[in-house]
Amino acid sequence: MRPGSNAAAALGAPPGSQGATTENIGQYLREEQRREARGPNAAAALGCRRDAAPVERRPQRGRRAGGPECRRDLRHGLSGRRMKTSRETRAILDSLEAQHPGADTELHYTTAFQLLVATILSAQSTDARVNMVTPALFKRYRDARALSKATTAALEPQIHSTGFFRAKSKSLIGMAQALVKDHGGAVPASMEALIELPGVGRKTANVVLGHALGVPGLPVDRHVLRVANRIGVAESDDPVVVEQQLCDVLPPERWTRTSDTLILHGRRICRPKPLCDQCNVRDDCDFYRTSVARVRVRRAKPARQASGPTRIRTPRR
Ligand code: SF4
Repeated sequence: MRPGSNAAAALGAPPGSQGATTENIGQYLREEQRREARGPNAAAALGCRRDAAPVERRPQRGRRAGGPECRRDLRHGLSGRRMKTSRETRAILDSLEAQHPGADTELHYTTAFQLLVATILSAQSTDARVNMVTPALFKRYRDARALSKATTAALEPQIHSTGFFRAKSKSLIGMAQALVKDHGGAVPASMEALIELPGVGRKTANVVLGHALGVPGLPVDRHVLRVANRIGVAESDDPVVVEQQLCDVLPPERWTRTSDTLILHGRRICRPKPLCDQCNVRDDCDFYRTSVARVRVRRAKPARQASGPTRIRTPRR
């Protein structure tokens, strides 16, 4: 017996390869690897993996806004309510991006450190207000080392107008001291390290990662929370859950843009009192369909009844 045939049998090579040479076995293994890479269905179809049961392909459902929709693409929120599929979500975000082209953070910054400071200051404040304060602040404290030596007495008057100035000044100084102590004064490019810094939560970390450090991040603020829940691309009042639900259906390169787009949409159109008539995704929005449109139909009904045929009273004789 040639050496190749034993080896082929030991490797579970298909029948007919018993007389294979060593070179043939090498070729067989390479082919087997390629089949595995293509998945069990391909291997089974080729009759090469006897143990590979074909994966059941579920039937496609009707075509809707996002294109062909597979049953396995269905998503449900924590309450069991159906959320948009990944295809629908991507189509909706395409429409919103078309409505708000070039969406980006409105905070002014030139370095990751400056964006970190500005984002901490933006809590319970507006970007416009923060942008008024930061030029003088960045001039006085150019980097983490300078800010780490600041005192609250000196810092508080400078950031007073952004609100919560006592807590923010403590956070800023603590954050700068931690950067100097643990990271040599640089802003770390990881979520784990950023959320260890005083005053830095998941949202702030995602803002800095996504905009200044080139690491995909999807910050979820109150606008993202409101808009995503209304449309039905996410379902939760917990920002971490919403972040996860959106990240699950979007490629990482879209995460930061998605957050910026939803924030702009929440500020301009989908405000607490939404301007649905100006919205690009009205036809796909759960809130519009179940609340706004229904109320309009209800209001329109009495008007139609009033304009119907009027009863003619016959005079009494
Ligand atoms: S249709 Fe109305 S509620 Fe829905 S996303 Fe647009 S503005 Fe918001």
